[in-house]
Amino acid sequence: MSELKILNKGEKFSHVNAGLLHGFEGKQFVKDATGATSCEISFGSLPTGAAVPFFHSHKENEENYIILSGAGKFQVNDDVFDITEGSVIRVSTNCDRNLKCTSAEPMVYICIQAKEGSLGGYTMTDAEITEHQNLL
Ligand code: ZN
Repeated sequence: MSELKILNKGEKFSHVNAGLLHGFEGKQFVKDATGATSCEISFGSLPTGAAVPFFHSHKENEENYIILSGAGKFQVNDDVFDITEGSVIRVSTNCDRNLKCTSAEPMVYICIQAKEGSLGGYTMTDAEITEHQNLL
C-alpha cells in the first residue's frame, strides 16, 4: 500500500500525492486527505492474474474507472470486455462489477465515484475565464 502524502493545503485547495504510479500497490482512497465533497477518488493496482477479490455494486454512485497501465478484462453483470491503458469505463448504479489484470505488467487504475446524475454544468457551462496575476 502506498503512503498518501499531503503536500499543500490552503483554504481553497489541497494537494496530495500517492507516489509513483509505476510500482503502486494496493488501494488508496484520497477523499479524506483532500477533503473532496463531490466525489471519492481511489488509486488501485492489480498484479498479473489478479482480480478484485469481490464483486460490488453501488446504490447511488456511478463509478468511472480510468486504466493508467496494464490490460485485462472488465465485467459488469454478465458482460465481459477487454480493457487496456487509456480505457475509461463508466459503471452505473445497481449492477455488479469487477476487473482483472491479464497483462504481464500490473494494472494501475483510478476510480472516481460520484452521485449518479449529479453533474450539472461542466467545463465552459460552469467555468468562467478570470483575470489573475500569473505567478507560475
Ligand atoms: Zn465501487
